[in-house]
Amino acid sequence: MKCIPALCRKTVTELCALLDGGQITSVEIVQAYLRAIDARDGDVHAYLETYPDDALREAAEADARRALGQKRSPLDGVPIAVKDNLVMRGRVCSCASRMLASFRSPYDATVIEKLHAAGMPILGRLNMDEFAMGGSTENSAFGVTRNPWNPDRVPGGSSGGSAAAVAAGMAPAALGSDTGGSIRQPASFCGVVGVKPAYGAVSRYGLVAFASSLDQIGPLCKTAADAALVLDVICGGDPRDMTSDPALARPCAGREMQDLSGLTVGLPAECFGEGLDAQVRAAVEAAAGTLRGLGAQVRKVSLPSLPYALPAYYVISSAEASSNLARYDGVRYGYRAQAYADLDELYRKSRQEGFGMEVKRRIMLGTFALSSGYQDQYYLKALKARELLRHEAAEALGGCAALLSPVAPTPAYRLGEKTGDPMEMYLGDIYTVPANITGLPAVSVPCGRSAEGLPIGMSLMGARDSLPLLMGIAGAYERTARVNEGMHPYDAVEEEARA
Ligand code: GLN
Repeated sequence: MKCIPALCRKTVTELCALLDGGQITSVEIVQAYLRAIDARDGDVHAYLETYPDDALREAAEADARRALGQKRSPLDGVPIAVKDNLVMRGRVCSCASRMLASFRSPYDATVIEKLHAAGMPILGRLNMDEFAMGGSTENSAFGVTRNPWNPDRVPGGSSGGSAAAVAAGMAPAALGSDTGGSIRQPASFCGVVGVKPAYGAVSRYGLVAFASSLDQIGPLCKTAADAALVLDVICGGDPRDMTSDPALARPCAGREMQDLSGLTVGLPAECFGEGLDAQVRAAVEAAAGTLRGLGAQVRKVSLPSLPYALPAYYVISSAEASSNLARYDGVRYGYRAQAYADLDELYRKSRQEGFGMEVKRRIMLGTFALSSGYQDQYYLKALKARELLRHEAAEALGGCAALLSPVAPTPAYRLGEKTGDPMEMYLGDIYTVPANITGLPAVSVPCGRSAEGLPIGMSLMGARDSLPLLMGIAGAYERTARVNEGMHPYDAVEEEARA
């Protein structure tokens, strides 16, 4: 029986209380998580690398600060793990690609600086789809990650390692990135909370770019309250990311709501149409009932352009990717082919050998969509659809505090089920891409289980500056619905040590 320490069931909020009460040390927490990773990650494969020495040193420093009454933040001493597209000085940042398999970053991403400044030890880097392109973590050059609830199922993606690590008790919190759903969809597949903040809320400096106008960093945690604590660490303006907006850094933690009276929640009709699994529909509709029970008004709204969101997303994200990934040329850094006759062949072979299939598909798609003669037909048209959707979402949110929808059309599917059919895989992003296209914040919260015991998630999307409110609604919902109560994808735990 593979056991994980009891401490690894605790939420970030509970760990903070134990640390504050002096019942546990940060070193003990980090040791417990390292043991959990040892026990479970052989099966799950959420981590690409762990940093035991640094994490234990950082934990010891956190304990020393606490002893002196010099806590750096509420999360001082609470460990976290990060998706492998966030650069850390001196560490490999591979983006799960052969291209960057041995690339070491000369600098820290802004969010990494912020984790350090908050005193959070970093446990390791987490698996993902190559360059964040995908929805199942099967596109990693370093092997698939499995869903902790069922090893035959995908964990979702592209932040599959982040979601699986939190769900399996191998990290109390993780960072992911979300360009078209990559935080929220794996969160829903693994039964954890995932947040994509508004575009501009978190600095993208040091996040390896996929599609710069869509990419955002956000947390994955067991609860909304935990995610709010992490958001307060990572949000904020940054002169090194000119798209970041200091006005969006409004505190999310400690804004617990009991009562949703006076709030209206909209159900976009277009999100409950064809292609939606019956069990997912039932779970999200039941969640709407719970919100109503908490006092919210629930009413139908319409986003008529929603059907265009997916094609627009794939055109825009691929176009931006084709440009962003032009930098991997085998010359300056990253993979370089062994044998080549001239510069042209060096480029060609390095890219051919360094990139995986899906990345090449996106580069080709994007290059085509931007090519002369087709730019108007595809790229400019997609930009127009984006504008339409922005308007419609703003209109719908004029009368609603949040829009409630499924996160994904189905629960986690089988490994290999969609790898042969990219279109099928892309269709899974239908409900998540609108938040990226519009730049709005959205939260994925567990709201039920399928008959097979697989997690189901719901999405709450709000106005640009509404993240604190969204987190409040999510928290009120989860405290009432208690979807994850007593449920863990691991049944055996070691004796309660000191916790
Ligand atoms: N699944 C989407 C895609 O493949 C989203 C990816 C992401 O958010 N990084 O593009």
